[in-house]
Amino acid sequence: MNKLLCDVLIIGAGPGGLSAAKSASKSGASSVIVLERDTKPGGILNQCIHDGFGLIRYGRALTGPEYAALALKEAEDSGAEVLTGHHVTGMTKGREVTACTRGGIKTYCAGTVILATGCRERTRGAISIPGDRPAGVFTAGVVQNLVNIRNIMPGKRVVILGSGDIGLIMARRLTLEGADVLAVAEIMPEPCGLARNVSQCLYEFGIPLYVSTTVTRIIGKKKLEAVELSSVDENMKPIPGTQRIAECDSLVLSVGLIPENEIAKGAGISLNPDNSMKTDKFLQTSIQGIFSCGNSRHVMDLADYVSEQGELAGINAVKYMRGEDMLTWDEEKTNCMKKGFPEKDTITCTVCPNGCQIKCVSGTYSGYKCRRGLDFAVQEMTDPRRVVTTTMLTGDGELMPVRTAGTVRKSEVMETIRRIRGMKYSEEMADIFCGTGKYSASTGMRQGLLGLCSVYYLFCMDSS
Ligand SMILES: Cc1cc2nc3c(=O)[nH]c(=O)nc-3n(C[C@H](O)[C@H](O)[C@H](O)COP(=O)(O)OP(=O)(O)OC[C@H]3O[C@@H](n4cnc5c(N)ncnc54)[C@H](O)[C@@H]3O)c2cc1C
Ligand code: SF4
Repeated sequence: MNKLLCDVLIIGAGPGGLSAAKSASKSGASSVIVLERDTKPGGILNQCIHDGFGLIRYGRALTGPEYAALALKEAEDSGAEVLTGHHVTGMTKGREVTACTRGGIKTYCAGTVILATGCRERTRGAISIPGDRPAGVFTAGVVQNLVNIRNIMPGKRVVILGSGDIGLIMARRLTLEGADVLAVAEIMPEPCGLARNVSQCLYEFGIPLYVSTTVTRIIGKKKLEAVELSSVDENMKPIPGTQRIAECDSLVLSVGLIPENEIAKGAGISLNPDNSMKTDKFLQTSIQGIFSCGNSRHVMDLADYVSEQGELAGINAVKYMRGEDMLTWDEEKTNCMKKGFPEKDTITCTVCPNGCQIKCVSGTYSGYKCRRGLDFAVQEMTDPRRVVTTTMLTGDGELMPVRTAGTVRKSEVMETIRRIRGMKYSEEMADIFCGTGKYSASTGMRQGLLGLCSVYYLFCMDSS
């Protein structure tokens, strides 16, 4: 079998892998190849249709698909080759990588390898909830995929276990799509997600959050009928007598992410007990010339930081090949965001991920760190507005992620979603909304209603 040669081989085309590809190419690597098992590059971001991505990296709030499209464009513009439908099945210590493709098995010999394979979700099995084994128990990522990509609602009455960011975001998404989210239960005494998500995904929609609470039983033979919730003590043990039953048809688990490192394990690379990667400060694994970035290295809160880390991995991969001094990753920089409960009687600024807690007392504002935060707080006090993201059916039955071009009044969010749900996307509509067609550079939304991701993406490019 012919072996294919390249300077830098990247496994995974999520934001980590795509940024690594861009920076490796820009640093002078002559052949940079990204292997992606999925049919579409972008990683998990393709199903994250909400906005809030790119606030750090691009200085604007993008949806997941918009962010992924930008990252792909940057990688391809730099000269990197992104190959989808390439499932990597193994790697040797000597950087020989085998991929399964529609055209057969391919083997690559790489000067350096960057592992950017993301993470997977913990399931019911990982947390051992007692009870029946009915249909209706999902992980949050699966529900995100069903609702945002496959146009399937898992249920109408939902309990969410775990208050990490994905759980919080799905609580809002399911509510917007008409489900009744009865509760978000969190075993810890504080929510695990960002304060800005607690505020804008739960509080804003009146979704109850029960901390120090867990699911102690799953009830239902064939289909889920109810879950038993119990309060827990400081050792996270259920307190007898606190059980209550929540009748529901879906239980959504958002109970943690596990770095996806089976390829690394197979090559004999050292991992931490939580399956994250052991790397040095240059993002190099225990095998020289093999680097790691993004969620497969260590699960991170924001795609923006994943991209930044990918960029450094790409630069260091090239420096390694040239025998140059490598750059250091600053572990601290990703820990500046406010997590847990928002402070009482404050506005959580959602303009950037820091989530500053802004107080307004008799018209005087405090707690903001920049002018944008002050403007946001004033707007929140006078006329709160939101960008609405959702999906729209295309003529061929597929879902297209869409968003309002500007903001709508907070009080009109549900009505906007209802109106969008009643529409069907068509090429003609793209003409109406976007000026000269789907790929027009004018963002359209002449009616002030909808923006289409592809259009926004091109607009971003043209205006930069
Ligand atoms: C369900 C879910 C929802 C999330 N929502 C958000 C959010 O709303 N906001 C946010 O900032 N972050 C979110 N995250 C975190 C998110 O994972 C990161 O922000 C970011 O996408 C991670 O980038 P990555 O490149 O490390 O991994 P990913 O985006 O997961 O990309 C990894 C890629 O590697 C590919 N791959 C894996 N194994 C192989 C193989 N053997 N061969 C070939 N290709 C392979 C995968 O198909 C995938 O495309 C979410 C994560 C999950 C799991
Ligand atoms: S006040 Fe400024 S720094 Fe703080 S969250 Fe808002 S935009 Fe970010």
